[in-house]
Amino acid sequence: MTDTPVTDAPTTQERAVQGIAFSELADRFGTPLYVYDGDEIAARLRGLLDRLHPGVEVFYSLKANPNISVCALLHSLGARAEVSSLTELITAQRAGVPAEHIMFLGPGKSRAEVTACVKDDVLLICESFGELALIDEVAAGLGTSARVVLRVNPAFAVKGSGLTMGGKPRQFGIDEEALLADPELAGRHPAVRLSGFQVYMGTRILTEEVVAENTGRILDLAERLSARLGVPLDLVDVGGGLGVAYFAGERDLDPERTVELLNPHFEDFAARHPGTRLVMELGRYLVGHSGTYAVRVRYVKESRGEQFAVADGGTNHHMAAVGIGSFVKRNFPMRLLNRAGSDERRKWNVTGPLCTPNDTLGKAVELPADLEPGDLVGVDRSGAYGPTASPVHFLSHGYPAEVLVHRGRARLIRSRDDAEEMLARQILHDFTTHED
Ligand SMILES: *Cc1c(COP(=O)(O)O)cnc(C)c1O
Repeated sequence: MTDTPVTDAPTTQERAVQGIAFSELADRFGTPLYVYDGDEIAARLRGLLDRLHPGVEVFYSLKANPNISVCALLHSLGARAEVSSLTELITAQRAGVPAEHIMFLGPGKSRAEVTACVKDDVLLICESFGELALIDEVAAGLGTSARVVLRVNPAFAVKGSGLTMGGKPRQFGIDEEALLADPELAGRHPAVRLSGFQVYMGTRILTEEVVAENTGRILDLAERLSARLGVPLDLVDVGGGLGVAYFAGERDLDPERTVELLNPHFEDFAARHPGTRLVMELGRYLVGHSGTYAVRVRYVKESRGEQFAVADGGTNHHMAAVGIGSFVKRNFPMRLLNRAGSDERRKWNVTGPLCTPNDTLGKAVELPADLEPGDLVGVDRSGAYGPTASPVHFLSHGYPAEVLVHRGRARLIRSRDDAEEMLARQILHDFTTHED
């Protein structure tokens, strides 16, 4: 696991998930199709939980893959849930996650969301002074008090993540300086039980040292803020942002090394604050590796010297494949799924059904030269930010089917949208009459 470079290694056989061939999954569930490997999800979570300081709790960020069965699987394996919308909250609750293991985060919470959390005693991660006032008002109105952790926008930034937070003007969290300048904050919100601090430094971090340095600085900041504001450290959430290697030249985090560097920070802190709950919140890292987006090639064609494989699904289900944080198109790892294919390889543009040139899953991808209609092509490492973060309604194709393979058994966890569902919310008026 130490070094898993992303390569286009030649396909040598038919590809399978836990012994079930992709061609069988495609025949059974249709394409385009997302397939998640539950064993992979379990391995990612256990790889951390079994090594991390025993006091550390891992919360799954539903944002990365909000499917209710994915949430239920992670819950069964010991993860808790971090949600950011009313529907995500209900998803986690129906997946069986108890309220005390859910936290609600997000910069634009509605009164309805705040109310649901206060009623069920779901921990709120508060992102602004205005939100804190709303939580106080809602809790007082309900004759209760609300547990709240303050999200801090730290004054420091740590380099090395795809999307750096901290040290910048952001809509997320409350600036460290503003908190330090407001020691009376707790007193002004009698219906709020301030219980600790949260910091999320950014996503797609692929350097073990950066993860550890972030964590150390966040724990340190929580101590300083606690002392200044008189807020007890019931809980400190150090965020996460652990990445997944997608592109050539990227390397996966080594979980052993990551934990080896993290644990001393947690141990030091826990020695000083034995009662504090320590939290990491992870999305991509837990589910990213597990997913394959499988599309079927409909046509192959040549245009001005370039080969195109036009498939039945594209960026409408996998917007991330367009490219993350880069103006140059970088490809996710892709492979032919249903057969070995010729040894001779050539560069293929793998495109989808949308009427836009941006609908390119992979540009100049090395695939067998004999790629043909009917073949299945898979985009790997697609378990996070897949259809949920894609324009699934574009051209009215709708959501693809999703399948979870767990303990050798493939289960449908979301059926694909059909035309009736796509049209159900549209309202047809009759414009043939000339009356008003
Ligand atoms: C998106 C997000 C996460 C999950 O991020 P990943 O990179 O998928 O792990 C966690 N915490 C916060 C605050 C987020 O916005």
